[in-house]
Amino acid sequence: MKTLIIANWKSNPQTAKDAVALALAVDFGIQKYKKVDVVVASPFLFISQVKDVLKSSKLGAQNSFWSGGAYTGEVSPEQLKNIGVEYCIVGHSERRGYLGETDGEINKKVKALLKNKLKVILCVGEKERVGKDIPEIVGEQLKKSLDGVKSSEVLNLIVAYEPVWAISTNPGARPDTPANAFQAMLYIRRILTDIYGKPTAVKIKIIYGGSVNSQNISGFLKEGRMEGALVGGASLKAEEFVEVVKIANQTNQE
Ligand code: PEP
Repeated sequence: MKTLIIANWKSNPQTAKDAVALALAVDFGIQKYKKVDVVVASPFLFISQVKDVLKSSKLGAQNSFWSGGAYTGEVSPEQLKNIGVEYCIVGHSERRGYLGETDGEINKKVKALLKNKLKVILCVGEKERVGKDIPEIVGEQLKKSLDGVKSSEVLNLIVAYEPVWAISTNPGARPDTPANAFQAMLYIRRILTDIYGKPTAVKIKIIYGGSVNSQNISGFLKEGRMEGALVGGASLKAEEFVEVVKIANQTNQE
């Protein structure tokens, strides 16, 4: 199975010229790493221009609305599909935290995107960590976000475990340990198994996000047994991001 590495550019860079330059450098750098699927999740503004230069990477978006029609300022799943987006991030902790996005809204987005045959990267993760067990909130986010999502659709789902305290933009952020990522992977897999049964659950990719870089990616993939990573800050430096992909490629035993 290919490893999935996603660049989440968030609200970067600040110009279309820089976005195209970054996309070109990433796409060129990763082309020889065939055991990795690379996704560039660009801001909406630059999606067309980024798409035009991606040859070896897939196009991603960072959010979607759950419907078309008259919703000022929103972008619909149909629009994303029609412009060539293949993957869409949903439920990122920055959207949950700063924009008050709820599990109910996330659930509507997941359903609308899957209906439009887009691949959904569903982010879950606790804000704070007390104790050593994975907090129940992670399971609740997962169950509520997947409420009513059918087995037949769920194969286009990727779950990204992103403990909020490990995301680099948060004050005092510290990367998670591969051992905890492994626990989270088992926990998420168990919940997916409860909902969909083992044959389906084992096909859903579980990836890690939170301060991933070229120094720690191999631990999350090997010891953490994660099937990929969602990379924020380190995806803005082409050389560093390509190094992450290179290591992911070396780590993949297929
Ligand atoms: C993210 O925000 O999804 C993320 C993983 O960011 P960073 O890699 O910068 O911690």
